[in-house]
Amino acid sequence: MQITTRKMQCRKNIALVAHDNYKKHLIRWADEHKEKLGNHQLFATGTTGHLLAKELGLDVTCMISGPMGGDQQLGAMISEGEIDLMIFFWDPLNAVPHDPDVKALLRIAGVWNVPVATNRASANFLITSPLLDNEVEIEIPDYAAYLAERVG
Ligand code: PGA
Repeated sequence: MQITTRKMQCRKNIALVAHDNYKKHLIRWADEHKEKLGNHQLFATGTTGHLLAKELGLDVTCMISGPMGGDQQLGAMISEGEIDLMIFFWDPLNAVPHDPDVKALLRIAGVWNVPVATNRASANFLITSPLLDNEVEIEIPDYAAYLAERVG
C-alpha cells in the first residue's frame, strides 16, 4: 500500500464512544478535560453524545446510538478523513450485541491511522499531547494510487 499524507487542522474532529459500563468513566474523564475538549469539534455515538451534552453541556454532534448503527456512522466518517482522533472506552469484560461494528470501527481507525485511546490512561496521553492543538500531518493510505493499481 502506498502512503500519502493528510493534514489535521489545529481544531480536531474528535470522536467519543463509551460502552454502557464505561459511560460514567468517560463522562468523568471528559469533565476533567472539558475545557480542552471544548476547543475541538466533538462527535459521538447517540447515547454517549447525549450524555456528554446533558451532563457537561458540551456541544456534540450525535450519531445514532452505537448498537443501532452509530459505530458504523463514525467508521464512515473515519474513512472519509473526517475524524482526527477517537476516544473509545470499549468494554473489555462484557460482550456487546454489536461486536462486529466495534471491531469494524477499531479496524477502520487502524486503516486510516487515526489515533485511538481505548481507556482512561491512553486518553490522558492523547489529550495532553502537544500535537492536539497544532496542525499535524499524518500518513494515510494513498487511495488514488490504490485505485490506479487495481483499475489502471
Ligand atoms: P451509545 O453507543 O453511545 O449509543 O451507547 C456506544 C457503542 O457504540 O456501543
